[in-house]
Amino acid sequence: MTQNEKDSVKKKIEEEILLTQEQISALKEKVKPIAPDCSLGRLTRLEAMGEQHMNNKILEESKIKLTRLKNALLRVDKPIFGICIECEEEIGFGRMSIRPESVRCVECASKM
Ligand SMILES: [Zn+2]
Repeated sequence: MTQNEKDSVKKKIEEEILLTQEQISALKEKVKPIAPDCSLGRLTRLEAMGEQHMNNKILEESKIKLTRLKNALLRVDKPIFGICIECEEEIGFGRMSIRPESVRCVECASKM
């Protein structure tokens, strides 16, 4: 990647970190325990619990993504940034601009 490309990926990482942090705080609100005495009907309550389960899953994934993004931000100025950890080839600007937290190229990631 050229310096310009790295700069734009870095900007992307910073934006994604902010977005992910916002998403995490919004999700934390949603996964608060449902009060047992709430006036919801049984079915509505089951739906609410299902939704909460989903949100918990998304929350866990968001936390992992945030950690990866923060790691990417630490690497972005180093020569190893954008190099696949498996085959040591360049991951390429296309993939890095979509998923800046990537540490593997498309080929190696698909073998996982
Ligand atoms: Zn690779």
